[in-house]
Amino acid sequence: MVTKIMNDKIYDISIIGGGPAGMFAAYFARLRNLKVSLIESLPKLGGQPETLYAQKHIYDVAALPKISGTDLIKQLTEQLNLMNCDQYLKTSVSSIVRKDNLWELTTNHETIYTKAVIIAIGNGAFQPRRLTFDYDPTLESDQLNYFVNNLDDFAGKDVLVAGGGDSAVDWSIDLSHVAHHTSLIHRRNNYRAMESSVEKLNRSQVEQLNPYIIKGVNFNKSNSRKIDVTLKMIKSDETKVVTADKLLVNYGFVSDSKILNDWNVELQGPFIKVSQEMETNLPNVFAIGDIVTYPGKLQLIATAFAEGPIAVTKALRNLYPDKDFFQHSTSLFEK
Ligand SMILES: Cc1cc2nc3c(=O)[nH]c(=O)nc-3n(C[C@H](O)[C@H](O)[C@H](O)COP(=O)(O)OP(=O)(O)OC[C@H]3O[C@@H](n4cnc5c(N)ncnc54)[C@H](O)[C@@H]3O)c2cc1C
Repeated sequence: MVTKIMNDKIYDISIIGGGPAGMFAAYFARLRNLKVSLIESLPKLGGQPETLYAQKHIYDVAALPKISGTDLIKQLTEQLNLMNCDQYLKTSVSSIVRKDNLWELTTNHETIYTKAVIIAIGNGAFQPRRLTFDYDPTLESDQLNYFVNNLDDFAGKDVLVAGGGDSAVDWSIDLSHVAHHTSLIHRRNNYRAMESSVEKLNRSQVEQLNPYIIKGVNFNKSNSRKIDVTLKMIKSDETKVVTADKLLVNYGFVSDSKILNDWNVELQGPFIKVSQEMETNLPNVFAIGDIVTYPGKLQLIATAFAEGPIAVTKALRNLYPDKDFFQHSTSLFEK
């Protein structure tokens, strides 16, 4: 029996995904004295803020007026390290299977046994939405970017940013502080970004090119380090070519949560359906963060932070029904 063989290695809760949702849930579960493992496929904790927008600023986390993606993850790591929590990095969970009232998690390394699971895999293996026309793939080695890894790569350059959502607007503002010239290309006159960011954009040095779509990207014929980006005006035959050093495409991300199809969790589109207490259809399997859907769900860090404690508390009630439940963190620390 799994339970007898592995007793000392059985976790109360195993959290799959070490983004903001998983990190805070792990900390909260440790605060409640549970035996916890946090499993992350990347070599580093941090999820989207660390991997996709380390240097972009976040303005909508309570009590933090302005913080970069990477600094938010540093703070979460510091908080998590206050508690001992087993962390499995470079460890990808490929399946979850019910065995003897436990969950058996198969990973690319060891097998992990746990009483409850919290799925916090964000968008799963996320990929940027790419330009839909053919272009020379070598452009992606420098001139054509889907991520900003380092703002310095854009310093002093002529930069085009494409997109109309939060990341395109935020990036164009941030890049305008380091680039020689920044333009934002969007197919509409209105943006799908936070009002305060749009106000900032309108006050910034960013040149707004709307309503245009990108029709082609090619190496510039007289300077192969530069690119010619062909723009077409919406509902018009007018086209123009803009020469730049770099194009940053921010058309959002396509989620690849296909792995979930094999986990038997009930999905709604690409998302996991959860109850008010973050329960999935499977016993003691919860889900939190960007991967979940419920009426009113917002894909924000603030919401992900709230969902972790709800899932942990419900798991605690299920696993240890006789335990005293509601406690504030101060009383937990004092113990
Ligand atoms: C460009 C951009 C800007 C944003 N700006 C803001 C903002 O200003 N404010 C805000 O509130 N939100 C912002 N967001 C959204 C915010 O980042 C997400 O809501 C948040 O990261 C969700 O956290 P999560 O932990 O659910 O998912 P993620 O951050 O996606 O983390 C999930 C983690 O799970 C891991 N994982 C996936 N599959 C497996 C597996 N099978 N096994 C093990 N590990 C796995 C992934 O590697 C990843 O590290 C932004 C998002 C983007 C893309």
